[in-house]
Amino acid sequence: MSEKSALVDPFDRVVNYVRLSVTDRCNLRCTYCMSEKMEFLPRQKLLTLEEIRDIGEAFISLGVNRIRLTGGEPLVRRGLVSLVDSLASHKSLGELTMTTNGMLLETHASDLKTAGLKRLNISVDSLDPKKFNQLTRFGDIDQWYRGVYAAKKVGFSKIKLNVVVLKGFNESEICDLVAFAIDNEFDISFIEEMPLGETNSHNRSETQFHSVDVKSNICKQYDLIETLERTSGPSKYMRVVGTRTRVGFISPISDNFCNLCNRVRVTADGRLLLCLGNENSVDLRSVVRNHPGDQSILRDTIKEAIKHKPERHYFDPNRTDILRFMNLTGG
Ligand code: SAM
Ligand code: SF4
Repeated sequence: MSEKSALVDPFDRVVNYVRLSVTDRCNLRCTYCMSEKMEFLPRQKLLTLEEIRDIGEAFISLGVNRIRLTGGEPLVRRGLVSLVDSLASHKSLGELTMTTNGMLLETHASDLKTAGLKRLNISVDSLDPKKFNQLTRFGDIDQWYRGVYAAKKVGFSKIKLNVVVLKGFNESEICDLVAFAIDNEFDISFIEEMPLGETNSHNRSETQFHSVDVKSNICKQYDLIETLERTSGPSKYMRVVGTRTRVGFISPISDNFCNLCNRVRVTADGRLLLCLGNENSVDLRSVVRNHPGDQSILRDTIKEAIKHKPERHYFDPNRTDILRFMNLTGG
């Protein structure tokens, strides 16, 4: 039985969207997301797929109607398709989506579609083979293309590309990425880099590139019109005139969107993280391990936790207050 809008935080925001990180591991090492030598969590600390399913189901019964699977790279988690299958079977779940780097989609796109995954966000920060390889530390762009085209072929509708823009690295490719999105009738979102985890590859304060500059770059080549369309996420959209493509701007640094926040995250080790930019969290892993199969304790723990959702994040690219890397929580 679903409790409609059971999750309302102290600032009257209804939480109806959860991002579940299914692993902290990844088959790439994007420089803004991970350090070169990452230590991953010991396997026994990661939630099992059954524990992730139970947590997802508790959220659904509390009125959550959107779940995004993320990571690390979700597709490196063995058995993921069965998790998609069980979550998708819940009729009240309006949207089950995934954020992926696309590298394994050639193998998995068809099974994911059959299992009931509705939409895909596929990350890419450069279409230049050398830069792609450099930014991901070893990725092969041809494998990425094969993954994207496989997803398109099996009929995923409205694929969205996610691009993190780093000044001095890929801002010159913004229009090429928009052109690729238009050619394939994809949407595309540009994301400001957040200071999450200490990177050893670059100084984050020097690579900041704000949405307003992304937009003026695009406007040199394309006409953009305002649209009131929104998805469940933090993107503010504009439509590219004469195309089926929308361009989204995700601006955690330059244009705070916390007043509209409807999301929480569960990390790969089962921490219910109430805000990406704060450390307030509640340990759901110990709840599912100490009380296996007990949905009622899980629901009560989640309801109590939502009362402590922080009002907003404060990101300063000159400081890394949050040492947790993005691969643990996902985006
Ligand atoms: N591996 C998958 C992928 O890359 O799409 C899913 C996980 S990844 C952590 C999710 C999204 O977070 C990606 O679009 C990635 O570009 C973005 N991301 C990672 N680190 C970030 C950071 N420090 N600031 C902003 N976005 C970041
Ligand atoms: Fe892996 Fe995604 Fe992080 Fe890149 S952004 S290292 S693909 S988790």
